[in-house]
Amino acid sequence: MLSCAEVVRQIASDEAVNASFAEKLRLRIHLAICKHCSEFAWQLRGMGKAVKDASTAVSDLEVVQARTRIMDGIFGR
Ligand SMILES: [Zn+2]
Repeated sequence: MLSCAEVVRQIASDEAVNASFAEKLRLRIHLAICKHCSEFAWQLRGMGKAVKDASTAVSDLEVVQARTRIMDGIFGR
């Protein structure tokens, strides 16, 4: 079973996009049973949607920085 830290890392980076079928399945199973990670995934998804909805230009760097802040908040780095 993947740890929460591993799941968050994969979701926040683009690793999940390029993950194998087995990896994606493991992620989905974790998200199905872990409230914290599923909430985090929804927040990220919502943030991505908000960025798309806004017609302002947001650079990839700003998105990465926002993701980093969220992860820092979760893990208290
Ligand atoms: Zn979790």
